[in-house]
Amino acid sequence: MTTLRTPGPTLGVVGGGQLGRMLAEAAAPLGVELIVLDPTPECPASLVARDQIVADFDEETAIHELAERADALTFEIELADQDALDRVEAETGVPIHPKPATLELIHDKLVQKRELRAAEIPVPEFRRVDDADDLRAAIDDLGAPLMLKARTGGYDGRGNVPVASTDEADEAVEAVAGPAMAEEFVDYARELSVIAVKGDGETATFPVTETIHREEILRESVAPARADDELQERAHEAALVVLESMEGRGTYGIEMFETTDGEILLNEIAPRPHNSGHWTIEGAVASQFEQHVRAVLGWPLGATDLRGPTVSANLLADVDEPAPAALSGVDRILSEPRGHLHWYGKSEARPLRKMGHVTVCGATDESSDELLDRGRKLRDAVSFATDDQR
Ligand code: ADP
Repeated sequence: MTTLRTPGPTLGVVGGGQLGRMLAEAAAPLGVELIVLDPTPECPASLVARDQIVADFDEETAIHELAERADALTFEIELADQDALDRVEAETGVPIHPKPATLELIHDKLVQKRELRAAEIPVPEFRRVDDADDLRAAIDDLGAPLMLKARTGGYDGRGNVPVASTDEADEAVEAVAGPAMAEEFVDYARELSVIAVKGDGETATFPVTETIHREEILRESVAPARADDELQERAHEAALVVLESMEGRGTYGIEMFETTDGEILLNEIAPRPHNSGHWTIEGAVASQFEQHVRAVLGWPLGATDLRGPTVSANLLADVDEPAPAALSGVDRILSEPRGHLHWYGKSEARPLRKMGHVTVCGATDESSDELLDRGRKLRDAVSFATDDQR
């Protein structure tokens, strides 16, 4: 039986970006406090959390201190150091969820794809690529175009290089600069994601999200996805199989392709709340962040039901070079009925950096197309140019 006291339980979080910030926002009503560990002073989460330990993600003495001040640990960044977390868990007895071993699986895209295939989860065809000869062989095998991906360190499409023919092999391998994998170019009808939660002896999945990327960066999320029920059912089933192979409790973001043939292929797993689930804050009964808090602490999960059709759009800094963060035109979002603004509190805008997002909740008779259009208009009404720069 859970008894709440004051102060409530403390969650130690490795990473203090926007995910940590939204985690702190969701934790507060439950009486749960956050301490975040992040190398950037005044990181986005620190402005909402109880405290921040300013240290690198892999600084073991700092992780130790975090554990000693917390009842449970989690991470919101995949750069967290698996070995350091494992040792801290063993030494302090403070539980870490998801298990640090999931990081190993996620770090390396080749290892991740092999594990998924071993679990009989359909994935795009792929080959290991260590040099240009491997890449030419992969093109012979899989055809062109294909996607060359850095095995580690890539995010928001950085580290991915589309390759049109064998003529581009040398250049592509040089651009990726390190161990890589080649993947068949998926002719997808849609990209989908399922936010899935592993609790204490229970699991939950949110309605399938449709994700819209441009230049490989997520721009908009549409819930529910504009896909038929049978396909959504299959997406949920695939997510539950993935969840089974994950160690430890928490929210997971599972990205998929829906091919033009109606097949579902797994793309990537994130062992943490995910950008494609930000819509759940206003659009679902209990958000992906609330679920993560509940799951990590071993508390019962909340309901994942949709409150109504919902669209989120990322506010990416449209600056050419780093500049102090300033968003103009926010009144348009603030005056939108059923519109919600999230500003992550980052002090510097950098090209295409995620600075915030906007969510719009639809009326029950509003189509997803109309709602998506409304979300895009809101996003496009704001700008990172300050008024005096215009
Ligand atoms: P990251 O780890 O940087 O997010 P992903 O591998 O998830 O990179 O790819 C980012 C985006 O690039 C995907 O959401 C998709 O739009 C596109 N993409 C990735 N792999 C493929 C592929 N095999 N075929 C077609 N598009 C792809």
